[in-house]
Amino acid sequence: MLYKVEGIVIKTVPYGESNLIITLYTKELGKIGVMARGAKKPKSRFTSITQLFTYGIFVFQKGRGLGTLQQGEALSSFRHIREDLVKTAYAAYLSELLDRFTSEDDMKPDLFGWMKQALEYINHGIDPEVITFLFEIKMMKTAGIVPELSRCVSCHRKEGDFSFSIREGGFLCERCAYKDPYRLKISKGVARLLNMFYHLDLARLGNVSLKKETKRELRMLFDAYMEEYSGVFLKSKKFLKQLDDLT
Ligand SMILES: [Zn+2]
Repeated sequence: MLYKVEGIVIKTVPYGESNLIITLYTKELGKIGVMARGAKKPKSRFTSITQLFTYGIFVFQKGRGLGTLQQGEALSSFRHIREDLVKTAYAAYLSELLDRFTSEDDMKPDLFGWMKQALEYINHGIDPEVITFLFEIKMMKTAGIVPELSRCVSCHRKEGDFSFSIREGGFLCERCAYKDPYRLKISKGVARLLNMFYHLDLARLGNVSLKKETKRELRMLFDAYMEEYSGVFLKSKKFLKQLDDLT
């Protein structure tokens, strides 16, 4: 059967000498892998369409097993991401997250929109760290492991001095703080931001500008939480950390 889909290349793996297996996240079918025959050859007609982060229209033939790419048209290659090492590193991390948190069988149409929007923002120069926090929360929601960031996870109070508990899975107010001696202290500002991120729709993001220390505080918390709950090790994350150490 022939399929025509709108999608984004989120992973590419060489196959044999000249082929590539590309993983697309599509609007119509969710995640899908297709073989691009000859894509690694110089002058292949698939060269531009099979680059990581390319957004476009893909036509492929599929019976049982892996589909075969027939045709493709790039609608955007996110040039500013490609030209910038840091932006590329963040986009690679988002792609890897999307790949690891989804499987080919479950269809989550809004994730395509999120990925496309996230790449557009990064391409347009919006802080990729902010986009990444929002994207991570979305992925955690998808996987059913999102922490409670709008109220105390124990007594459900919405006001108070919150700390963050990895074990309890979210905010703890000062009255419930005793439940987790290993809770992480967070500033009021960070608690407010987390609450905002939790509710924010990516499509309605304004220009959020955060101080470096605030981002560092958030990053530590996100990393600790993701490590505990997702059990997923991401190669691209390691690279991001190395980049961060350099700056
Ligand atoms: Zn409480």
